Amino acid sequence: MIDLFTFDSTVPRIVFGVGSLSKVSEELGRLGRGRALVLSTPHQENDAQALASALGELAVGVFSRAVMHTPVKVTADALSVFNETGADCVVSLGGGSTIGLGKAIAFRNNAPQLVVATTYAGSEVTPILGQTENGIKTTIRTSSVLPKTVIYDPELTFDLPVTMSVTSGLNAMAHAIEGLYAQDRNPIASLLAMEGLAALRKALPAIVKLPRDAQARADALYGSWLCGVVLGAVGMSLHHKLCHTLGGTLDLPHAETHAILLPHTVSYTEQAVPELLAPVARLFSSPRAGTGLHDFGLSLGAPMRLRDLGVTGDDLDRATALAVSNPYWTPRPLEAGGVRALLQDAWEGVRPS
Ligand code: NAD
Repeated sequence: MIDLFTFDSTVPRIVFGVGSLSKVSEELGRLGRGRALVLSTPHQENDAQALASALGELAVGVFSRAVMHTPVKVTADALSVFNETGADCVVSLGGGSTIGLGKAIAFRNNAPQLVVATTYAGSEVTPILGQTENGIKTTIRTSSVLPKTVIYDPELTFDLPVTMSVTSGLNAMAHAIEGLYAQDRNPIASLLAMEGLAALRKALPAIVKLPRDAQARADALYGSWLCGVVLGAVGMSLHHKLCHTLGGTLDLPHAETHAILLPHTVSYTEQAVPELLAPVARLFSSPRAGTGLHDFGLSLGAPMRLRDLGVTGDDLDRATALAVSNPYWTPRPLEAGGVRALLQDAWEGVRPS
């Protein structure tokens, strides 16, 4: 029997497929906008400039200083450029960092956002904005930051380095897995989660073998889109909160932190809700989801150890204290000894016990 549930998700318009980058001008027209500020990180500046050139008069400038964790100072600079150029919308070309900047602008001036997503982080389909001020990252959930249109062109991900493809893909899988045991889980989100997980399960090994495999790149973007919808639709728990705490306090790289912690947070949670994680165990042909994810990460050459990110034993103590001092709902209640033990396993990179 299906229990009472609510499914509350507004998904942007999606334009998917090889060559869809050429649709940006048409899609701006649909939005009734014709003065786009194109956003990127410094690393993707050439792509952003090329897109601006292709857009011609529809682009009024490029701001290529997006960085991870969306510092409010960078947002202020980008807003000045937005106003000086008379822009009427943003086109965010990149991963979560660039998309975060576009959302931060939209949060302040309601600019419509068109996103060209080039990683698997999933931010482009969530109403969530994380931003940093004075070293503190806060998260806001509001429909005003949800992009209007998302373009997924697999060709733009052909050169996403393999390590980043793997960690970003595991980051996407983390959204789906936490969705399966969310307090507000529901049949639709779980359906999307399993479809997204299956697509990434198939795609990531193929990308490791052949990074320019067009089908695998398309599968990975498709999977990450669905996993992102799950992130936007239901609440996350232990895994995302721990990544947030560790990443925020120690300034750790986002996707790597997710990739390393995932088998261990899942293993911790699995003890309370094995039945909810059984489909994940089956997907990895493993007796348990946590061990299946560990073996999958290992087979992909994913980073496995927190200590390789420069984390110390003291950091683990502090992260444990922070994690349990700020209680939130999890399927398995937070308990300092258990959290410290899972962090220790993640630090050493051992197979979850
Ligand atoms: P990122 O956007 O920081 O990208 C990492 C690097 O890879 C950057 O230098 C970028 O320019 C480069 N890059 C991106 N795509 C590329 C491509 N196709 N080819 C070559 N290089 C490419 O990394 P990310 O993991 O996508 O995003 C992390 C940020 O996103 C964090 O700040 C995180 O908090 C945020 N995030 C937010 C949400 C949300 O819903 N609000 C969800 C997930 C992540």
